[in-house]
Amino acid sequence: MTDLHPFIAGLPKAELHVHHVGSASPRIVAELASRHPDSKVPTDPEALADYFTFTDFAHFVEVYLSVVDLVRTPEDVRTLTFEVARDMARQNIRYAELTITPYSSTRRGIDEKAFMEAIEDARRAAESQLGVILRWCFDIPGEAGLEAAAETARLAVDLRPEGLVSFGLGGPEIGVPRPQFKPYFDQARAAGLHSVPHAGETTGPQTIWDSIRELGAERIGHGTSATQDPELLAYLAEHRIALEVCPTSNIATRAVSDLDLHPVKEMVAAGVLVTINSDDPPMFGSDLNNEYAVAARLLGLDERGLARLAKNAVEASFLDEAGKAKLNTEIDTYTSQWLAR
Ligand SMILES: [Zn+2]
Repeated sequence: MTDLHPFIAGLPKAELHVHHVGSASPRIVAELASRHPDSKVPTDPEALADYFTFTDFAHFVEVYLSVVDLVRTPEDVRTLTFEVARDMARQNIRYAELTITPYSSTRRGIDEKAFMEAIEDARRAAESQLGVILRWCFDIPGEAGLEAAAETARLAVDLRPEGLVSFGLGGPEIGVPRPQFKPYFDQARAAGLHSVPHAGETTGPQTIWDSIRELGAERIGHGTSATQDPELLAYLAEHRIALEVCPTSNIATRAVSDLDLHPVKEMVAAGVLVTINSDDPPMFGSDLNNEYAVAARLLGLDERGLARLAKNAVEASFLDEAGKAKLNTEIDTYTSQWLAR
């Protein structure tokens, strides 16, 4: 069988489901930790590799929060954001919608205007210096409740940074019903932001229906349980509501017990617009290129199939039409040149 890794590595890609702090690689964490020596996070990249080895999901959350705690100043925010883009550029990710939880930072005392300036400064630098186009999704940390939801909506609508395109909802799903967030999604949507909640990662298809009907979801973060409901699959396919599938993440968090049992094949067979994403890549020991390799194996894809997958992400993105056309051309040109070698 052909080794698809070299093709994937050079394939121009778009990523739609990837978290800001969750993208901090050991290299970035080491830099932030060295700025804040009082934190318990190791500064040596080798020790960090061990630090990033999780014993279970609770341990993952603990480590994640210790990294959140390293982002204390606007300069930390800028460094994190720009360095994440550098890691994306190395994988030929040309466009990414980065999910940011501004509430985690403003609640920790980072000035909200300085926060917005830091991410915007990093976004412009990433585009001009690295050729990576970044857009933002501001998400509600579901576990922090309605106060966090109101604050996130206020930050999104009142301070709206230029790169902001969408509004999301993350955190645990169990015990955090989606419909209660409707007023905040209504505010964000009235301001022209797209709706992209996480749903159906650890709960059943009803959460996905709730996200569509109550929150106006235009894409679904994960949507793993959609395959339990044929009517829902048909609805997603008909309305081109894309699923942001993150295979390795689903195994790491045990949303799916085994990669070979991942329902992505059924999603594709039902005609759903499936995109492949990395979620919190360094924390799950993955990156987008690895997720594409996993998808190729699960879906039996060759180079053309992988190029179609990359174009699915372009279609489901909130990039403007000219930007979409340009990225699709890059994917087509790369693929035909590769196959003509
Ligand atoms: Zn996520």
